[in-house]
Amino acid sequence: MFEPTEEQAALAEAARDFCQGTLTETLKADDEAEVFRPEIVKAMGEMGLCGIPTPEEHGGLGLGYYEYCLVLEEIAKVSASYAVSVAVTGLPQVILTLFGSDAQKQRWLPGLAAGELLGAFALSEPESGSDAASLKTTAVRDGDDYVLTGTKFWITHGSYADVYVVMARTGGPGARGVSAFLVPGDAANLSFGRKEEKMGMRASPTVEVVLDGVRVPASARIGDEGIGFTVAMTALDSGRITIGASAVGLCQASLEYATRYATERRQFGTPIIDFQGVGFMLADMACRTETSRLLVHKAATLKDAKRPYSDIAAMAKVTATDAAMAVTTDAVQVLGGYGYTREHPVERWMRDAKVMQIVEGTNQIQRLVIARHLKKQHGIG
Ligand SMILES: Cc1cc2nc3c(=O)[nH]c(=O)nc-3n(C[C@H](O)[C@H](O)[C@H](O)COP(=O)(O)OP(=O)(O)OC[C@H]3O[C@@H](n4cnc5c(N)ncnc54)[C@H](O)[C@@H]3O)c2cc1C
Repeated sequence: MFEPTEEQAALAEAARDFCQGTLTETLKADDEAEVFRPEIVKAMGEMGLCGIPTPEEHGGLGLGYYEYCLVLEEIAKVSASYAVSVAVTGLPQVILTLFGSDAQKQRWLPGLAAGELLGAFALSEPESGSDAASLKTTAVRDGDDYVLTGTKFWITHGSYADVYVVMARTGGPGARGVSAFLVPGDAANLSFGRKEEKMGMRASPTVEVVLDGVRVPASARIGDEGIGFTVAMTALDSGRITIGASAVGLCQASLEYATRYATERRQFGTPIIDFQGVGFMLADMACRTETSRLLVHKAATLKDAKRPYSDIAAMAKVTATDAAMAVTTDAVQVLGGYGYTREHPVERWMRDAKVMQIVEGTNQIQRLVIARHLKKQHGIG
């Protein structure tokens, strides 16, 4: 079950070779100095890695989320920041593929899929995170245009992106009053505020985006007025699979690193892996990694088969990101004092894992989603 074909394995291997070469060169310094290198995303785009599930007619590879997950796991094994970059630049692509007009697809998809353009997803605001439907950014119709005003917070690729999918209010309160817009990165009156200084994922830029009367034509609206929240939630459903896959990458990297260390490190005259306390910790890390991968691949396979997958995607996100937090923390423990230093990557993986429990809907919100599905399955709600 979930065994990659030769072609799928070759795609993952190409991603692995690129990441273990180019990506490792500046990794440590970029984490320390919080440097993002868009040229790395561009290079991955040239290999086809930025548009794996985007249809071939729009410049993507036209493959599935399963292949996407295999690749993201390989990228995250080296750098969770760049796995998130590939996943985030994929969000406008999934949105345009499902909801975009022909003109919007032609304008943006080929560049995004090729990694020549960088995409961003702008939903969160200073006062609306988990309660995203309470967002305050407005889009006011003015003749053939809309004028967007508001502040978006925590935007990955903020200030670097060529296009932002911005959720803004065109109607009354709540989810039904929200619409989605394509805002070019060079639009007049679009500016960028604070870049967050973060605990982890430090090579990924997280920036405040300010819309101070940004004018876009009505043709920049994605779908009808009022479907913006559905657009955002649909994107986040698939985003949960990609975050899950990235978390599996962190688990696998930590497991491999800690296992190697535990076979080489000797105390009391014996390799530490032979102490049951350490061996069992590694066994639990392996169990968490495998179960997470299975669930992520199940969610991806359901999506690829066009079957309902939202509840499984939420379970995959919770399971894999909680696992990543536990497995990376245990990896630090296996390395003892050395694990707590910057000499080894496990401390970075632990810092990177934390945010995965927060982004694309916190793990508490995922549990709400799962509970709602359970109620529905039992004919309530
Ligand atoms: C590094 C990073 C990158 C990000 N990138 C993006 C991006 O590209 N685009 C974007 O739009 N957003 C982005 N975000 C924002 C992210 O999606 C939000 O941080 C997240 O949705 C949580 O919102 P919040 O931070 O406002 O927390 P809050 O919603 O204020 O939540 C605070 C705490 O309360 C809990 N909580 C809230 N409501 C409930 C409830 N009903 N039941 C139980 N617990 C609850 C939460 O789980 C959390 O533990 C990013 C965030 C980070 C940190």
